[in-house]
Amino acid sequence: MIKIAQPQIGQEEIDAVSAVLKSGQLASGHNVLQFQKNFAEYLDQGFCIATSSGTTALEITLRALGIKKGEKIITTAFSFIATANAIVHAGGTPIFADVDETTMNISTDSIEQIILEQSGIKAILVVHLFGQSCDMDKISEIAIKHNLLLIEDCAQAHGASWKGRKLGTFGDAGAFSFYPTKNMTTAEGGMVVMKDEKLAKLASQLIQHGIKERNQFEYIGYNYRLSEISAAIGICQLKKLDHFNSVRRENAAYYEEKIKHSDIIKPIEVPGAKHVYNQYTLRILNDKRDAFINYMNRNGIDVSIYYPYTIPEQLCYRSTDFLEKDYENKLEVANRIKHEVVSIPVHLGLMEDEVERIVTVINQF
Ligand SMILES: *Cc1c(COP(=O)(O)O)cnc(C)c1O
Repeated sequence: MIKIAQPQIGQEEIDAVSAVLKSGQLASGHNVLQFQKNFAEYLDQGFCIATSSGTTALEITLRALGIKKGEKIITTAFSFIATANAIVHAGGTPIFADVDETTMNISTDSIEQIILEQSGIKAILVVHLFGQSCDMDKISEIAIKHNLLLIEDCAQAHGASWKGRKLGTFGDAGAFSFYPTKNMTTAEGGMVVMKDEKLAKLASQLIQHGIKERNQFEYIGYNYRLSEISAAIGICQLKKLDHFNSVRRENAAYYEEKIKHSDIIKPIEVPGAKHVYNQYTLRILNDKRDAFINYMNRNGIDVSIYYPYTIPEQLCYRSTDFLEKDYENKLEVANRIKHEVVSIPVHLGLMEDEVERIVTVINQF
C-alpha cells in the first residue's frame, strides 16, 4: 500500500535524539532555545516559542494576544478541528466563515459578510489550508480596516509564502504544528510566532506555568513545553524543510501535468502563493468520490478525506451555543466541497515509479 503520509527520519535525527538521551537533559533546554532561534531565522521575522503541539501553540497565541471570555474570532469552517478547539480553549467564540471554491481557504467575502452582520468581532484566525496561502493582501486589509487581530494557523504551511514573504509573519501571530504528517515533524510539537517581542515573552511564561522567575508565578499558566528530544529532531528537520517542500512541489507539478480526468478537479496554485502541498487535494465530481476511494484502495494506494465534515457540524460543536442559527446556510461552499475532496499521496517517501503509477491509476478511473 502506498501510504498517504510518511515522516522522513534520517540518521541525523536518530543521532541527535540519542545525544539528548545520553546528555541527561530531557526537558526544555538548549536544543529548544536553538530550535526557536533557527525557526525565527528561517521565517526572517518574529519571535518564536516552541510548544507541545500545534493546538497548544494556537491556544497560547490567543491567550498571549489577550482574547477574553466570549470574544468572537472569525475562522474557517473547513479545517482540522483543532483550529476551532484552540479558540474555545482560550475562552473565545469561533464564528465560522465559508471557504473559497478554488483554494478551499477562508473566503474573504464571507469574512466581510460576518463583520457586517455581527458586532463584537475581535480577531480573524485564518488557516493556510493544505499548504497554500490565503489571500494575505485582502485579509490584512480587512484586519486593519476593522481593527481586528490577525492570527495565522500555519500547521500545514511550513515554508509556504505569499508574494515572497513566509507565512506566519503576516498577522499579529502565527502557529505551526510538527505532527508527523506535516511538512516537518518533531513527533509532537508546535511553534508560536509572535510579531511583538513582549507578547513572545508572555507566551514563553504561559507555557511554563506563568513563571516570572524561580518559584514565582505571575500568571496561571500551563505546561505546554516542547521536550529536548523533540527539539533535537526539529533542528534537523528544519534544515531539510526547503528540500522536503521542493520534492512535494515536484510531485505536485507532475500530477498537475499528467492527471487528466473529466470527473476530477486538481488543486490550483494561485498567483502570489508558493504552495507547499501538505496535501494534494482533488475534488471528485458527480458523486463518484466513494467509488474513487474504493478504486484507489483496490489498487494499493491510500487516500484520505480532509475533511468529510465541516467543524460546526461535528457533534461536539452542535451541542454548544457557539453556533448561530442559520450557520448551515452560510457555509454553502464548504458544505458542497466536503462531499468532493480527497487527498492523494504527495509526500517525500514516494518513489518515482509510485508517482507514475498513481497517475496511471487515476487516469484509468
Ligand atoms: C495539525 C493541525 C493542527 C493541530 O496541530 P497538532 O500538532 O496536531 O496539535 C491545527 N490546525 C491545523 C490546520 C492542522 O492541520
